[in-house]
Amino acid sequence: MSDFSFRLESQKGHARAGVMHTAHGDALTPMFMPVGTQATVKSLSTEDVVALQPQVVLANTYHLYLRPGHERIARLGGLHEFMHYERPMLTDSGGFQVFSLGEQLAQKGETRLAKAKISEEGVEFTSHLDGSTHQLTPELSIEIQRHLGADIIMAFDECLPDAAGHEYTQESVERTYRWAQRCVTAWEGALRRSVPGHGQALFGIIQGAMHEDLRRRAAQQITSLPLDGLAFGGETIGYNMEGTLQVLDWLREHLPAEKPRYAMGLGREPENIVDAVLAGYDMFDCVAPTRLARNGVLYHGRLEIENDRPVWRSEFPKSRLPIGNAGFAEDQGVILDGCDCDTCSHGYTRAYLHHLYRTQELTYYRLASLHNARLMVRLSEELRHWILRV
Ligand SMILES: [Zn+2]
Repeated sequence: MSDFSFRLESQKGHARAGVMHTAHGDALTPMFMPVGTQATVKSLSTEDVVALQPQVVLANTYHLYLRPGHERIARLGGLHEFMHYERPMLTDSGGFQVFSLGEQLAQKGETRLAKAKISEEGVEFTSHLDGSTHQLTPELSIEIQRHLGADIIMAFDECLPDAAGHEYTQESVERTYRWAQRCVTAWEGALRRSVPGHGQALFGIIQGAMHEDLRRRAAQQITSLPLDGLAFGGETIGYNMEGTLQVLDWLREHLPAEKPRYAMGLGREPENIVDAVLAGYDMFDCVAPTRLARNGVLYHGRLEIENDRPVWRSEFPKSRLPIGNAGFAEDQGVILDGCDCDTCSHGYTRAYLHHLYRTQELTYYRLASLHNARLMVRLSEELRHWILRV
């Protein structure tokens, strides 16, 4: 019934290499997934996205539900057809934005969005576009994702902050489990197929903040469901690497080897990818590489193998080359020697990128995003090669 399968090819320590079969082709792990929030990786054309050679591209359910609407996208043939992109895609459940956008605006002093209200049924939220009220439920999240038609879809969950107390986290983890069961029912009721007609894999999300007993409980609950993959969510994942690695240490014994492991929102710095792969995570996504690129931060560094162990080395703090610095104004080198991204391989110089950045030229956003996103994708490929090397 499903067009999805995952096969573990090789393991080195905890690090894993695998291959995922989806309705739109095979995808190799470990993988960094560029984020195409509004059905576009910001500033890049679909041909540019193809040039990044990503295994999977992510799109955001919340944004596409509000605009242009999932039903419209389905009428236009689904996300792949709409974007003119033929490779595997993943959509999130919309839950993260529903919970976080109101909060983020409130922190900036904007109070036009009411805080999201959680009930057993789902989450009531106000649109950041026009203030209209909506309710997102597990069933609606699956229905939206069926219309969008990604190859991998996510169960609806509540993303918890690290500060969440034990009592609230317990309540939330139990509710997220019931929501995951409702997602499975909706997905199976639709024969695991998208509205455009191909098979869709469903991944469940393990929450539990930083409470070991509740992370374990969540892992046991979510792995008991007939899901295709397991994701790890919460404020800590990707944001706090120590916590991210701790969570996988707690849970490793509960996780079936044959299911892919997706660390949601991980990939702010290249070394995060190295650490996460060594710990045994298989999939990552993060808006940081393209967002940082737009803000003048270009990744710099390379993967080296020392004593058969991959190590990320960079001459810049946090691997960040600040292209706006005056020191680059006459620098005729490329961003990173030997980089195979379209920007470096075509010979665009640091001096030119510095000028484009300083003058806020639109071309800058594209050239910078191509470099940062390709570096993260290539790093995943290099780690995969290291795992597969005997
Ligand atoms: Zn480059």
